[in-house]
Amino acid sequence: MALKTLIAGAGMAAALVAGHAAADSSDVPAANPLLAPWSGPYGGVPPFDQAKVEQLEPALEAGMAEQLAEIDRITANPEAPGFGNTIAALERAGRTLDRVRTVYGIYSSTLNDEAVQAVEREMAPKLAAFSDQITQNEKLFERIAAVYETREKSGLTPEQQRVTWLHYTNFVRAGARLDAASKKRLSEINQQLATLYTKFSQNVLADENNEQLVIESEADLAGLTGSARAGAAQVAESRGQKGKWVIANTRSSVEPFLTYSERRDLREKVWRMFVNRGDNGGATDNNAIIAEVLALRAERAKLLGFETHAHWRLENAMAKNPERAMQLMEAVWTPAVARVREEVADMQAIADKEGAGIKIEPWDYRYYAEKVRKAKYDRDETEITPYMQLENLREGMFYMAKELFGFHFKPVDPAKVPVYHPDVRVWEVNDPTGKLVGLWYFDPYARKGKRSGAWMNAYRPQERFDGDVKTIVSNNSNFVKGKPGEPVLISWKDAETLFHEFGHALHGLSSNVNYPSVSGTRVARDYVEFPSQVLEHWLATPEILNRYAVHYQTGKPIPRELVEKIKRADTFNQGFDTVEYLSSALIDMKLHLAGAGKIDADRFERETLDKLGMPSEIVMRHRTPQFMHVFSGDGYSAGYYSYLWSDTLTADAWEAFTEAGGPWDKAVAGRLRDNVFSVGNTIDPADGYRAFRGRDAGIDALMRKRGFPVPDAKSR
Ligand SMILES: [Zn+2]
Repeated sequence: MALKTLIAGAGMAAALVAGHAAADSSDVPAANPLLAPWSGPYGGVPPFDQAKVEQLEPALEAGMAEQLAEIDRITANPEAPGFGNTIAALERAGRTLDRVRTVYGIYSSTLNDEAVQAVEREMAPKLAAFSDQITQNEKLFERIAAVYETREKSGLTPEQQRVTWLHYTNFVRAGARLDAASKKRLSEINQQLATLYTKFSQNVLADENNEQLVIESEADLAGLTGSARAGAAQVAESRGQKGKWVIANTRSSVEPFLTYSERRDLREKVWRMFVNRGDNGGATDNNAIIAEVLALRAERAKLLGFETHAHWRLENAMAKNPERAMQLMEAVWTPAVARVREEVADMQAIADKEGAGIKIEPWDYRYYAEKVRKAKYDRDETEITPYMQLENLREGMFYMAKELFGFHFKPVDPAKVPVYHPDVRVWEVNDPTGKLVGLWYFDPYARKGKRSGAWMNAYRPQERFDGDVKTIVSNNSNFVKGKPGEPVLISWKDAETLFHEFGHALHGLSSNVNYPSVSGTRVARDYVEFPSQVLEHWLATPEILNRYAVHYQTGKPIPRELVEKIKRADTFNQGFDTVEYLSSALIDMKLHLAGAGKIDADRFERETLDKLGMPSEIVMRHRTPQFMHVFSGDGYSAGYYSYLWSDTLTADAWEAFTEAGGPWDKAVAGRLRDNVFSVGNTIDPADGYRAFRGRDAGIDALMRKRGFPVPDAKSR
């Protein structure tokens, strides 16, 4: 259920010409270490020991100039266009810029301070214009089109045909066939959008950094678990409030507080602070930005010949059109809302029995849900947490990777591979014969300037067409760091998220393709969450829990009865989880189906939720003014439905295991690796899934997974 997690930069990669390549840095100052090919072990590693913020801007400029020179050489080639001198040459181009953008992305998402923000504001529109300069290059597009038109009869491999199709499609989708005036307008729109996306993100980050609840008296912590108290004390200390407690305005601080705090007044305060990020009026308010973004996106879609932004975005997704995505969401929405009614009734009954004299409000949901969980399933989250040690669970993930995919993880000597922050650690990954597969970087802890949530990032995709390049991937999360020497205990949900993000990492590590633009996680947006979601299931297997979920004090494995309780409560609170997520996904899609015309985000959100029959006890997981998935870039715009789309595949794929020999069935794991994890975007995802499962996925497994009634065949 890790619905909030995303893949950093993937949208960017898809929107861009996936360029790459041989360095020609003769005309750039030699002093900038970001421009050099990565040196050191493992085929080179990012030069974090030498990188400085002030190098980013000149390195990005130099990287762009170099790639444009490479493109000029491709278009100036007197030979007739062919795969080698055009498509492969494009795959080879832009390598310096790729490396610089990797470091830039890491600074943006994990080391974001005022200096980095200044670079973002300066460079976002420039990078957008650069991307357009390439896709609008007529000579280049003519060559790509020529290769594309003859792709089936020119002796290309299936992968080469797919790469050719991808470049052609990306160019057309980016406006390569438009007339000069439309191209000019398109580029203006893209630059304006890039600036607005940057502002939107910086506003959310500002509200997350600058707002907080300071607690001065220990009595106000009533109900909070030991680890939540320690976390709040830690945050206070890091913010110069030693001796007090601070609830930061981030999900990882807010959710435990809303779950456990007995102080209803403080819960409401914290809840209001969190759901109003980007919606507070003043300098960091995002409402005007949203209206501008939506208008520009609608105009761009029209220019590109699409009915709406949603139609444009979904054309190259697995769903293909907004109607199919809406159909799935609506099929799940109604039973989910019905389940919420039941959940609320259960909670209200407990509140009444306790004589609380309240009506369940959104700031009560998590708190009373916990009480229901205890009463109904005798499952107490505070009983589970002592067994959920971050480092042990990481070892459990390694075990899963070994059993399913044959990957062996070995820590890298910190002296050998530089990191960008002392909290970051690196592992090398080998296959059973000891051959290197790639590197895995792990950045687990929250800190100021780090984006909230959890995500995976590929620093370098696997590829083989110009020599064997090993991938480098990273996982990032926001756990609150414990005191030195003390284990970090995490919630069951956070553990699922950990496995989820690791699933993205294994998707990248399993990649076995030739060309970088179709490598690893560079697949359709509504397909990319499938490999990660499916691996969440392994957390609850006895093999992982018995070995790795051991008590942090006694060292004893999690008791069998507790595991049984966890299983029984599997579909607990699915009404809340599904409605919280789906309301965001539906608003996202409807905003982007609304077409031109000025949209008041606040009103649109309110009226649309009213029409949908949104339960008043729940608020969207991401309200519009803080919806980073949708407004910090194009990536997940009209694409938040992807998590549900992927989960349909996930639920069905998990049943492939349970129908066979269970979670560790080698044959099913082999089919999953061969047809899903290793193929990147070299094949159509629907074909890959069919090859794995022997058929398409229906909705039944998804409904079973969430504990909703399975519709009969007719109503599907
Ligand atoms: Zn994900």
